[in-house]
Amino acid sequence: MAKTPVAIRACSSYDTDILVQHFREMYMLCGGPSLEGKSVLLKPNILIDALPSRAVTTHPVFLEAAIRFVRKAGATRIMVGDSPAMHGNAFRPEASGIWQVCEKTGAEWQYFGRDTDSRKIGRHSVPIAAAYGQADVFISLPKLKTHGLMMFTGALKNTFGLIPALHKARQHALFSTQQTFAEFLWQLNETCPPDFVFMDAITGMHGPGPSNGTPIQIGAVLASASPLAVDLVAARICGYRTEEVPLNVWGLAHHSQLHSWDDLQTDGPDWKTFVRPDFKRIRQVGIRNIMVRFIIDRLPAIRRLDRRPIFREDRCIGCRKCIAICPAQALRPHPERKHRILIRDRQCIRCFCCHEVCPQNAIEIKRKIF
Ligand code: SF4
Ligand code: SF4
Repeated sequence: MAKTPVAIRACSSYDTDILVQHFREMYMLCGGPSLEGKSVLLKPNILIDALPSRAVTTHPVFLEAAIRFVRKAGATRIMVGDSPAMHGNAFRPEASGIWQVCEKTGAEWQYFGRDTDSRKIGRHSVPIAAAYGQADVFISLPKLKTHGLMMFTGALKNTFGLIPALHKARQHALFSTQQTFAEFLWQLNETCPPDFVFMDAITGMHGPGPSNGTPIQIGAVLASASPLAVDLVAARICGYRTEEVPLNVWGLAHHSQLHSWDDLQTDGPDWKTFVRPDFKRIRQVGIRNIMVRFIIDRLPAIRRLDRRPIFREDRCIGCRKCIAICPAQALRPHPERKHRILIRDRQCIRCFCCHEVCPQNAIEIKRKIF
């Protein structure tokens, strides 16, 4: 059986000309579909609208290079979109520089929360950005980052952004464990697969990602027509073993062709040259493998000992974004102290959406027994 190609290129800084050249080569090498006369949707990761220096979002220069590449390859309509959880229809990603790139290049900004279609994913009807259905080609532009719930976020997780705004929180409530959420994300990727992926791993994020971690220089761009293939390589660069990333494990078990690391064919420098020994992975205290995780997800008494959100009153500004996004209604404001958030621990499903949206890094994910 033919191996799945993943292209890796060393790239130490955000330079549009160099990136366009890399994209052209990598796209051809990995068999990207023709873009001639096509309408193309580019989806960067805009979890929250944050400055590029925080490495929360796909870098605007990376997006600009992708726009220039697809235009040169013949695309006639170029859309750029995402839908961070906490915004209305007028949302424009200005802090991240993504809105300015759309203005400069003439790409159409599409806020995914405005127009939606629905798709059947598993047994559920799920709203999906209408822009996805309008595009002939969907190109995902994820950022390499750690992720509190899923250990790592890359190409497969970036597709979750097709689900508009707070509808994402509903899916978290429906699929509340690592395993069920991994299954849902895999089904979503089967229903709405990216046609191609360029991953921004030039500067990634480590520590408490995906929004409150620390930027880390990795110096790589990854590409493939398979999001799973990109994520397998990216997770290894982060220092994870394949079995430590539930979504990758689920993908290998259910993909029609890609069943193990040996089914990949990498092109470019060895991925090991990008591994940073100081990369801070998400660690699940006391959890050595997916089997143990499986048990924890099913035994509530043990689950109480698992990592949970801890609210830091000294950092909180009382914006209540955490309360608004919580899919389990597990949070409420303290009746007297504006900067204190109370959690009903039994209700918390450990989705860590609150941690993702907190603008002050006031929510830590820790194990707390008492
Ligand atoms: S914990 Fe964070 S998100 Fe919640 S109210 Fe405080 S600052 Fe806002
Ligand atoms: S409190 Fe935070 S981690 Fe718990 S369910 Fe709500 S959003 Fe998810």
